Amino acid sequence: MQIRTRITILFTVVTATILMVFACTVYYSAVENRENEFYALLKKEAYTKANLFLNAQVDRKTLQDIYHNNRKILNEVEVAIYDTRFKLLYHDAVDIDFVKETPAMLRDVVKKKEIGFYQDKWQVIGITYAYNNANFIITAAAYDQYGYNKLQNLLSTIIIVFIFAVFLSYAAGIFFSKKVFRPIQAMTQKVKNISANSLDARLQSTGNKDELSELANTFNDMLNRLENSFDGQKHFVSNISHELRTPLAAMITELEISTNKDRSTAEYKVIIDNTLNDAQKLKKLFNSLLDFAKASYDSSEISFKALRVDEILLDACQQILQANPDYKLDIFIDPALEDEQMISIVGNEYLLQVAFVNLIENACKFSDNQKCSIAIKSSGTSIQLEFKDDGIGIEPQDLERIFTPFYRGNNKAYSEGNGIGLSLTKKIILLHQGEILVRSTKGIGSVFQINLPHPSAL
Ligand code: ADP
Repeated sequence: MQIRTRITILFTVVTATILMVFACTVYYSAVENRENEFYALLKKEAYTKANLFLNAQVDRKTLQDIYHNNRKILNEVEVAIYDTRFKLLYHDAVDIDFVKETPAMLRDVVKKKEIGFYQDKWQVIGITYAYNNANFIITAAAYDQYGYNKLQNLLSTIIIVFIFAVFLSYAAGIFFSKKVFRPIQAMTQKVKNISANSLDARLQSTGNKDELSELANTFNDMLNRLENSFDGQKHFVSNISHELRTPLAAMITELEISTNKDRSTAEYKVIIDNTLNDAQKLKKLFNSLLDFAKASYDSSEISFKALRVDEILLDACQQILQANPDYKLDIFIDPALEDEQMISIVGNEYLLQVAFVNLIENACKFSDNQKCSIAIKSSGTSIQLEFKDDGIGIEPQDLERIFTPFYRGNNKAYSEGNGIGLSLTKKIILLHQGEILVRSTKGIGSVFQINLPHPSAL
């Protein structure tokens, strides 16, 4: 069932329930009022007749004639008067005598001074009346035709108004729910037409500060992220293809040239060296891409454990020096970090080593002196690592973009690379809930700073 229909039905049921409670209250209070008012009327009639009969000494025949005449047009009250020995002194119509007074009933009147009850639909009261030092018992009974008619009319009106109001609230429910859900329907229609090829489509925001405009804005934000991510993926794939094609094309050309004609051993050696160089570039790129894929996993898929940062750093230095014995590395560890607790973090050893290797390699390869100064310090809740070089520096406009996959700065001609290293490093640091910052001055050098939170701060 559609939410719209559900809301309409709910709205109608709630309105109908409120109306029903209201109608029942009105009707039952009218029923009670009629009953009380009619008892009061009976009492008044009883006293009036008793006064006429006992006080004004109106004769029995006149009173009975009045009763019989009135009965033809009204529901006249039938009154009977008894003395305390339960002897009938007066009766409006013995022939009709609807209420058969019994001695028990009259005794009950004497005892309670006043009683009231129903006989079929007739209302009956019994009261005591004092006159001239003598006590009398009066009973009065009548059928409240007028009152019952009024009640019947009220009930009919209530039922008609109730049905009409329920119908009206159902119609109003349909109308308003349609109005409320119209923008949602428009959104659904628009979203149905959004595919991978039309990720630039956006939902129309109402401009109000309501839930629907919040939904549209949230959805648009999500589309922005998706579009960026799709664009990123597209660029990523085309960048990978480009990076793979260049060394592969170079290898193919070299090998083709070598097969053109017979060459000397020295020439073959040059060709093999060049091809090997290209193959190593390819291997490096593959490894970087593999690491990038690993670091892109959901962090729950990567194993984390307690590690000493200094040990990982030393392993990274060793790895670099093995591959590049000319590089010079200078390490400073803050004495305050000698405590094992202070220098430990929770992380993935392999990925952190990859990150450190990238930063050290960059520092060395973009500097004339091929030197990287590394410092590990403590800054309260985190461990701070600084990778400093006195190299060529980075141009200010490149600073924001060097963490983008495959982006190489204006200084790229200075050293070979594929532009994956820093984006991979940033991914790894974010995975460890840390941050990476860079300061650089062209011609002076660069400092890459990593802050890794202590386990207690996580
Ligand atoms: P690659 O080093 O393979 O080019 P990276 O992602 O590691 O790729 O670095 C991206 C770019 O950032 C480099 O091309 C370079 O322009 C710049 N860069 C990174 N580190 C340094 C550094 N220490 N000194 C100067 N430029 C740097």
